[in-house]
Amino acid sequence: MSELETFRAQVRAWLAERYAQVDPAKDDERGDTIARAPEGHAAMVQGAIDLQQALYAAGFWATRLPVEYGGQGLTRAHDDIVNEELMRFDCPSLRPLGIGMGLAMPTILGAAGEEQKRRFLPKLVAAEEVWCQLFSEPDAGSDLVSLRCKAVRDGDTWVITGQKVWSSFASDAQFGMLLARTDPNAEKPHSGITMFILPMDRKGVTVVPLVDIAGGHHFNEVFLEDVVLHDDEIIGEVNRGWQVANGTLSGERSGYLGGSGKGRRRRQALAAATAAGKLGDPVVRDRIVDITARERILELLAERIHAGVALGGNPAAGSLVKVFAGDLEQQSSELVIDLRGAAGVAWEADQPDADYSAHALSGSRQARIAGGTHEIQRNLMGERILGLPREAR
Ligand SMILES: Cc1cc2nc3c(=O)[nH]c(=O)nc-3n(C[C@H](O)[C@H](O)[C@H](O)COP(=O)(O)OP(=O)(O)OC[C@H]3O[C@@H](n4cnc5c(N)ncnc54)[C@H](O)[C@@H]3O)c2cc1C
Repeated sequence: MSELETFRAQVRAWLAERYAQVDPAKDDERGDTIARAPEGHAAMVQGAIDLQQALYAAGFWATRLPVEYGGQGLTRAHDDIVNEELMRFDCPSLRPLGIGMGLAMPTILGAAGEEQKRRFLPKLVAAEEVWCQLFSEPDAGSDLVSLRCKAVRDGDTWVITGQKVWSSFASDAQFGMLLARTDPNAEKPHSGITMFILPMDRKGVTVVPLVDIAGGHHFNEVFLEDVVLHDDEIIGEVNRGWQVANGTLSGERSGYLGGSGKGRRRRQALAAATAAGKLGDPVVRDRIVDITARERILELLAERIHAGVALGGNPAAGSLVKVFAGDLEQQSSELVIDLRGAAGVAWEADQPDADYSAHALSGSRQARIAGGTHEIQRNLMGERILGLPREAR
C-alpha cells in the first residue's frame, strides 16, 4: 500500500468510527448547511468547530500547511484525501469555518508578515479562532473598489469608520479580514485601500445578524465606529490591500472546486431518478449524462488548476471554475427537484425526514452571488482570458 493509500485508510477508519456513511439518496441535504433557526445556527457552528478540532488533533487537518505554522507539512494530495473522505460520511459541515481555511489562511500565508503567520495560522487551523471576511458594503459589492469604509491615520494608530454587509459568520468570528480606504486621494481608487486584521471584540465593532429569506442566520451587518487598529494589524503593505484582496478573491473562486465532489451530483441524480422510477426515461437519462460529463470536466479542471497549468496559470481560471461549478450545481439541483415532484418543494415544519432539495436549489443560487456574481466573473473572463476591451466604467 502506498503512503497515500495508507493515509486514506487511516482517515476513513477514523471517520467510520464516529459517523455513518452518507446515503446517496439524501446526499444533497448536505448542501443545505445553513441552519434555519438561531439555536440551530449556534449548534451548526459548534459542530464545525468540534469536528475541525478533532480532525486537527488526529493529524488529519491542515495537512499541507508547513509545520511551523501549525500544519502537518504534507502535500495537497493529503488535503484532497481528507476532503474526499469527509464527503463520504454524515458528519457536521465545516462550512462555518470555510472563510478561515479557504480565504484567511491562504491570504495570511501569501501576504502577511512572519510574526502574523506564526500568531494567527496555528489557532486558525486548530479551530481555536474563527475568521470572517469584511469586504462588501451596502454600495460596494460587485464594484468593490468603490468601498467607503475609511481608516484615518491618528499618531501611530488607524481609526476605522464604516459599515460592512453580508459578512458571513461574523457573529461567530474572533477576527475579520477588513478592507478599508487609507488614501482617499489616491489617483486610482484601488491604490488607496489597505487590508487589516480586525479583532471582532475591539471597541467600536457592532455585529448585527441578518436573517435571510429561508430563515438562515449566517449573514451579518458590521458597524465600525472609531475602531482603533495598529500597524501590526495590517496584512501586506499600506495602500496595497487591493492586490492582497485579489489574491483572496481568486482563492475564493477556485474554492468552488472543493465542491467538485467526485461524482456526488451524479449519485444524487441517479438516486432521485431510481426513487422516482424514471431511470428508463430518455429525457432524464440525457440530463444525468450531461451532469456526469460536466462533473468530470470540473474534476479535470480542478486537477489542471492544482497543477498550475489551466489557462497557462492565468488567475482568472478561478472565475471559470466559479461559473462552471455554480451552473452545474444549479442544473443538478433542478433535476433532483423535478424528479421529486411535490415532495421536493413542500413539507411539514416539524417533519424530521423532510426533503430539503428546495434548500439545495436556493443554496445553488447563493453560490452564483457570493465571491462575485456570475455576471462579474464573465466580465473578468472576457477581459483577462479572452483579451476583450475593458468594460466602460
Ligand atoms: C451566500 C453569500 C455569502 C456572502 N458572504 C460574504 C462575506 O462573508 N463577506 C463579504 O464581504 N461579502 C459576502 N457576500 C457578498 C457578495 O460578495 C456580494 O453580494 C456580491 O459581490 C454582489 O454584490 P451586491 O450584493 O452588492 O450586488 P450588486 O453589486 O449590487 O449587483 C446587483 C446585480 O447587478 C449585476 N451587476 C453589477 N455590476 C455589473 C457589471 N459591471 N456588469 C454586469 N452585471 C453587473 C450583478 O451581477 C448582480 O446581478 C456574500 C454573498 C452571498 C450571496
